[in-house]
Amino acid sequence: MHNLRMLQRRTFLKKIVLAGTGALLLPAGGLLWAQDAATVHVVQRGDTLSGLAQRYNVSVADLRVVNNLQSDVIRVGQRLSIPRSGVAAAASALPSVHVVQRGDTLSGIARRYQTTIAEIQQLNGLQSTRITIGQQLRIPGADDPLLRSPYLANVIQATNNLRIERGRWEHIVGHHSAIERGNARTYDRVHREQRGMTNGLAYHFVIGNGVDSGLGQIEIGNRWTQQLQGGHVRNHQVNLTGIGICVVGNFEERHPHPQQIEAFTHLVQYLRNHVLRGQRVRFAVHREIDQQHTLCPGRNFPTRALHRRFPS
Ligand SMILES: [Zn+2]
Repeated sequence: MHNLRMLQRRTFLKKIVLAGTGALLLPAGGLLWAQDAATVHVVQRGDTLSGLAQRYNVSVADLRVVNNLQSDVIRVGQRLSIPRSGVAAAASALPSVHVVQRGDTLSGIARRYQTTIAEIQQLNGLQSTRITIGQQLRIPGADDPLLRSPYLANVIQATNNLRIERGRWEHIVGHHSAIERGNARTYDRVHREQRGMTNGLAYHFVIGNGVDSGLGQIEIGNRWTQQLQGGHVRNHQVNLTGIGICVVGNFEERHPHPQQIEAFTHLVQYLRNHVLRGQRVRFAVHREIDQQHTLCPGRNFPTRALHRRFPS
C-alpha cells in the first residue's frame, strides 16, 4: 500500500503508455531483465499441464501459479507463460562442497550456508564436530536447482552473510504497491518522509515491474539485511515476525506479469526451504492479515494458487 499516487500520477500515466511500446524505452536497469522475457506456449490439442511441465523442465505447481490456474484443466488456444527457471540458469551462488580453511568451525560453516551442524554431519558421515583443514564437506541443499534461479542470485549472496536467529520469522506476507511506478528506493523515501518510519522501506523485498526497476528484479531492503521487523501490516505481531514482499503494480486493476510472480514464488520457496528450513512459517497475503482494511495485493494476485503451492 502506498500513497505515492497523487505525487506521481502524471508521470506514471506517461510512462505506462511508453512502456507498452517496447523494451527500448525501459530504463537502463530494466533492459537486462526485459531481454529474458518469459516464453509463451499456445496450448495445442493433446497438451496437458504435466506434459508441458515435463517438456519445459518446470514443475506443474510453478505453471499453475505463474498462470493463476485454479485447476490443471487447460484449453486449446490458451496462452500459457512458461517460467524461465527451466530455460535460463545463472551460475549457482552456493557451492556444493566447502573446503575447510584454517579457523573454520562446523557451526560457522553451518551458519554461512544456512544449514545446521546436524545436517552437515549427516550428509558427510561425521561422528563429531571435529573438522580438519583441507577436508571437503558436502553442503546440504546446495544441489537444489532453485539456488540457480537468476532471480535469486543477489538475494542468496546477501542472505548468506546474515546471521538469522532460529524462530525469528513466522510469516511471509505478499503485497502489491497499488501503483505502477516506484522501486525500493522511492518507496523507502515515501515511508521515511510521509509515514515517518525511521527504518524506511516497510517491506523486506520489492519485486519490480520493469518501469523503475527490472521486470522480476528482487530488490533487497535494509530491513532484511539488518533483520529488522517490517512495517507493512496493521497487525503488530505479524509486523514483528513477518517478512514483507511487495510486488510493484496495481493488481486490483490489472494482472501481475508472469515474471513478477515467478520471482515472487522463487523468493518464497527459497525463504521457506532454505533460509527458514525446518521452521514453521505461514504464507499469507496482506488482506488475510488485515481483513476489511485493505484490498492488497489485489484481486488479480494469484493468492489461491500460491496457498496451494505453499500450504501452511
Ligand atoms: Zn499491503
